[in-house]
Amino acid sequence: MNESQKTDDHVRVRMAPSPTGFLHVGGARTALFNWLFAKQHNGKFILRIDDTDAARSTDASMQEIFDALKWLGINWDEQYVQSERSDIYDRYVSQLLDSDNAYHCYCTPEELEEIRTESRKAKSPLSYDRRGRYLSSEAIERYKAEGRKPNVRIKMPDTPIRVDDIILGSRNIDPSTLEDEVIVRSNGMPNYNLTSIIDDAEMQITHVIRGTEHLNNTSKQIVIATALGFNLPLFAHIPLVLDDTGRKLSKRHHGDLVAVNRYREQGYLPEAILNFVARLGWSYDDKQEIFSLEELIEKFDLARVGKSGSVFDIKKLEWLNSHYINQLDIPTRTDAVIPFWEQAGLVDYDSGPDTNRDWLESIVEAVGERLTTLQDIVPLTRYFFTDDFEYDSKAVKKWWGSSDEKKQKSREMLTSLLQILEAIEHFDLETIEESIWKYTDENDIKRVAAMQTLRIALTGTSFGPSLFDIVVLIGQDEVLKRIQKAIVCL
Ligand code: GLU
Repeated sequence: MNESQKTDDHVRVRMAPSPTGFLHVGGARTALFNWLFAKQHNGKFILRIDDTDAARSTDASMQEIFDALKWLGINWDEQYVQSERSDIYDRYVSQLLDSDNAYHCYCTPEELEEIRTESRKAKSPLSYDRRGRYLSSEAIERYKAEGRKPNVRIKMPDTPIRVDDIILGSRNIDPSTLEDEVIVRSNGMPNYNLTSIIDDAEMQITHVIRGTEHLNNTSKQIVIATALGFNLPLFAHIPLVLDDTGRKLSKRHHGDLVAVNRYREQGYLPEAILNFVARLGWSYDDKQEIFSLEELIEKFDLARVGKSGSVFDIKKLEWLNSHYINQLDIPTRTDAVIPFWEQAGLVDYDSGPDTNRDWLESIVEAVGERLTTLQDIVPLTRYFFTDDFEYDSKAVKKWWGSSDEKKQKSREMLTSLLQILEAIEHFDLETIEESIWKYTDENDIKRVAAMQTLRIALTGTSFGPSLFDIVVLIGQDEVLKRIQKAIVCL
């Protein structure tokens, strides 16, 4: 245990998603790290909807974030919505204005644009020259008379801002490089930096664990917190998640490739996603990759979160997902794949859940460890449900042949197999296997040739689960029908 992990049931952490889109992989990681930290300390995990950007926030997005977190199994102890808390923010804004830590800025958008251009020319690090700090009372009266609606800006201090970070260490930020941030827009809407630090104080947040992209905001929030006399939470900025070209993974550049729901829809398991995001920036040792949630609660340590960006490796996510699918017992795995069969129109489970349950489980068992995602069940098993499939041309060429002579041989082989399988009275695996081997051995036919020729007739492809399992599961009548059809098509 290190400093960041002392058992302390006063620990209160939060996640503050903006409901302006789906929950993305980085958001899931922020949620998980906070949640794990709370669990480790017997503390509380708070979900705070950061909807101060009213124009971009939607209820649908809020719901989607709730659903995604619930699906991941990340539950929260308290929930707040910032748009319902404006009275609280107003009170603190008055305090900042009264104590001269904030001021009204009456600049119009056009004036601000001019100031920005001038500052750029003068190579100033600031795009606003802080002129609102020095307005005379006459000027203020004039602007008011003109009906201008002011912004409220926070005054950056003259002395360096100290930022202590559990992951990044301590640093001093030169305040002359920071804008006098607008904390309330002219339409009266408070902005993120203001509401965030006020709520962190109001909600007695002890640790703020969030992405490194907020580092700049942290300095400004510290200024606001100091002006309001708040105790500062401890900060932990977790590294960026990058794509394989080193670019920050973002909704804007990567679209729904980063959406948690997308992975859910494709048949990723929550356990795999959690394990995957846990390892984005955190490692236990150099070896261990698989972590159950219990293990994560036990082993996760903020102090072992790295400083540098961490690459989103889809291959690793696939690998983890197939690992967790393989861990599911057959009935559970069957439950998990049924919605995918239903979606593909292969199974109508509602019309009688128990009718073919055993058969479905046997199919899942036959597929074995071949699923990378649950959705893979559809292409891998379509032929169990329907004979409406194409014969794979490569497989056909290789095993059925392309010359007339080879094709004729294949037709003869399928005709013999048809007769053999038709004659079987008890259509069970052993009998089928024995009969087919007897035929190949007596006729000096390579077993693999007979198997592949038959497999293509039954499934359209040359790979898949054990052929005898397939024959049994498809059933005698359907097997005979498919062989007849193949003889004609060949
Ligand atoms: N709404 C911000 C985000 O989603 C919150 C950042 C924070 O945790 O303070 O990035």
